[in-house]
Amino acid sequence: MIATGVLITPVLLSPLPVFRAPLSTVVEASDGSLLGARIADDGQWRFPATEKVPAKFEKALLTFEDNWFYYHPGINPVSIFKAFVRNIKAGEIVSGGSTITMQVARISRGNRQRSYTEKIIEMFSALKLELFRSKKRILQLYASNAPFGGNTVGLEAASWRYTGKSAADITWAEAAALAILPNSPALVFPGRNQEILRIRRDELLRRLYRKNYIDSVTMVLALDEPLPGEPKVLPSRAPHLTDHFYTERRGEMIRTTIDPALQDRAAGIINVHQKDLEANFIYNSACLIVEVETGNVLVYVGNSTLEDALSHGGNVNIIHSSRSTGSILKPILYAGMQQSGDILPNTLIADIPTRFPGFSPKNFDQSFSGAVSASAALSQSLNIPAVKMLQKYNPEKFLDLLHKTGFTTFNKPADYYGLSLILGGGETTLWDLTGVYASLSRVLSRYNHEKKYLKEDYHPLLLESNQNTAYEKRAETDPPLSASAIWLTYEALQRVNRPESESGWQYFSSSPDLAWKTGTSFGFRDGWAVGTTPRYVIGVWVGNASGEGRPGLTGITAAAPIMFDLVALMGSGTWFKTPLEDLTTIKVCSKSGFRAGPDCPETIDAEACVNGLRSEACPWHQVVHLNKERTLQVTSQCVTPDNIVNESWFVLPPAMEYFYKKKHADYATLPPMAKGCTGGKSIPVMEFIYPTAGVKIFIPRDQTGELTKIITEIAHRNPGKKVFWHLDETYLGTTRFIHQTEMFAKRGNHILTVVDEDGNTIRCGFTVI
Ligand SMILES: [Zn+2]
Repeated sequence: MIATGVLITPVLLSPLPVFRAPLSTVVEASDGSLLGARIADDGQWRFPATEKVPAKFEKALLTFEDNWFYYHPGINPVSIFKAFVRNIKAGEIVSGGSTITMQVARISRGNRQRSYTEKIIEMFSALKLELFRSKKRILQLYASNAPFGGNTVGLEAASWRYTGKSAADITWAEAAALAILPNSPALVFPGRNQEILRIRRDELLRRLYRKNYIDSVTMVLALDEPLPGEPKVLPSRAPHLTDHFYTERRGEMIRTTIDPALQDRAAGIINVHQKDLEANFIYNSACLIVEVETGNVLVYVGNSTLEDALSHGGNVNIIHSSRSTGSILKPILYAGMQQSGDILPNTLIADIPTRFPGFSPKNFDQSFSGAVSASAALSQSLNIPAVKMLQKYNPEKFLDLLHKTGFTTFNKPADYYGLSLILGGGETTLWDLTGVYASLSRVLSRYNHEKKYLKEDYHPLLLESNQNTAYEKRAETDPPLSASAIWLTYEALQRVNRPESESGWQYFSSSPDLAWKTGTSFGFRDGWAVGTTPRYVIGVWVGNASGEGRPGLTGITAAAPIMFDLVALMGSGTWFKTPLEDLTTIKVCSKSGFRAGPDCPETIDAEACVNGLRSEACPWHQVVHLNKERTLQVTSQCVTPDNIVNESWFVLPPAMEYFYKKKHADYATLPPMAKGCTGGKSIPVMEFIYPTAGVKIFIPRDQTGELTKIITEIAHRNPGKKVFWHLDETYLGTTRFIHQTEMFAKRGNHILTVVDEDGNTIRCGFTVI
């Protein structure tokens, strides 16, 4: 009893070996291969512990160091006695007689000078370790913490540095060499040491053969293998991803969702394009490829890795950098407006000169089409119709939709962005953008499959394997956009076309089924491209991390070519099925695209979201009274009823008409009113472009401190008519053809009056603040 206590007490009092040294950050691909690693904070390559010790290494190690490991209680009295005898003979400590367990204890104590006291502490610590930890765990502690020469600690780091592969994949010869190193780490260095290492390794291989762990052929081949030499450079297949985890999860080993083969090829594609882009002083680009079904990130290229990029922001991880969106949010607005029933797919939207206080959107090609269908406006990425649409939808509601779809960077109130939000007034990240598209595509695919929405379908991207349950499940609501709204949007995005004047048009004609959109920020600073198929989403950004804009840096010319190469890499597939259960058929005016009204002469059936049934009826077909020749409008006051023809006429507002009829030869202007006829329908011949009724105008001062002028503009159905301008009671001037003028206005309320030579009059009240 006393004897037991005498033995147990020092065991329990002795320190239990613990390892608190900082660890390297290790990032693995989905198959366990190494994407990259960052050195531990103490300058050591010390990888986090792996699940189990590879069998080859274990057999080699135990054969070399500790044959009785699985049978002794932490100390091996026989080998201690042998070592004691040897040390007495030598007159100094030359042999430890240490078990693996005792070595774990020694390593945990920082490999102190060998002394009898140290040895005794190690022995008690080893006994305690055996008491509290399994054999398997003790081996794991050894493999993770043993020194392997230089600043390499632990088997996994050693294996990567000396053999260029994971310890799970090493050969018998490599296992034997690595089993020897912890006892004499200096042997790994070239020169005479290498000869000693070879002798010991070959001897160990022969012992492994004698113990029947390997056959003779394996031994002969193993003896022929070269020895590990100078440490190899660790792989760097996703440096920005490795940096990302170095910041977020330092000292951990992370198994990601990255597909290593795709990652390498995508990084290659980025660098090939970067070579060309650098000729135009564009140094940075990034791409993400995401699997739709899971949301797993398959490819994560955070930036160019070309040499020139290094001195030009190449270390910046673009994937998480906030950059101006350009036009890249337009599809979200289109989808939101389909869902709410604000528009139908082919509703005509005004595309005319447009001014807002301090903000005057322009189309990319500076032209106006008068009116254009919403889907064409989206696929051609027209700016003015997009602003008109946002104005109708409401910026606040749109901002809310952006938040709900998963964009995290729009943190300012709606007033801050105003209508420019749809043209790049806000910033997003490639991460958010690609994630939103992946969720939308997943919702559409799954709806087609399940005929209902599943709450877990809408979630952020996943970057770590086995993370599927880690993300927060969304609230008990349906997805922010319905399957029909997404499908209608993707249908329009399938027709995304590049202007014929631009080079590289062949990308469009050769592309497989793909919904895609580009974006270019103000000042040519950011080029975006995002595309989706039912299987994957590809997001690309091109620009300069410094924010410097470059002529020709557009989504279409710089980012889309990279995206299409990545599309080719991923391969095409079948297109999304039509979500018939979520769509409804609506009678639509074939001229205006609006829901057909009673006066629309021709209608077609169109698929739309259910709320489209409540959308505005066609406002532009109206029944007019004409003479029999259809050359003049008449009324019953001047013509007898049997001489009046009633006809439904397509009449656009004056400004839309002016531009629309230039591009549509079949557009017939409404005939003028017959002389002497009154009391007919009043169809305006003029319309204000700026100011608009009720607008509040802030007038800035110029450099000399003077208030600047307001530029006013109207449209007239017949621009050749003379037009007379009055501000309040003051005559301003006359215009013809181009109905634009300038004026000063003091603070307060004003009325602008415009009269044409026929006496037609329009008025507009506005306020200067
Ligand atoms: Zn109509």
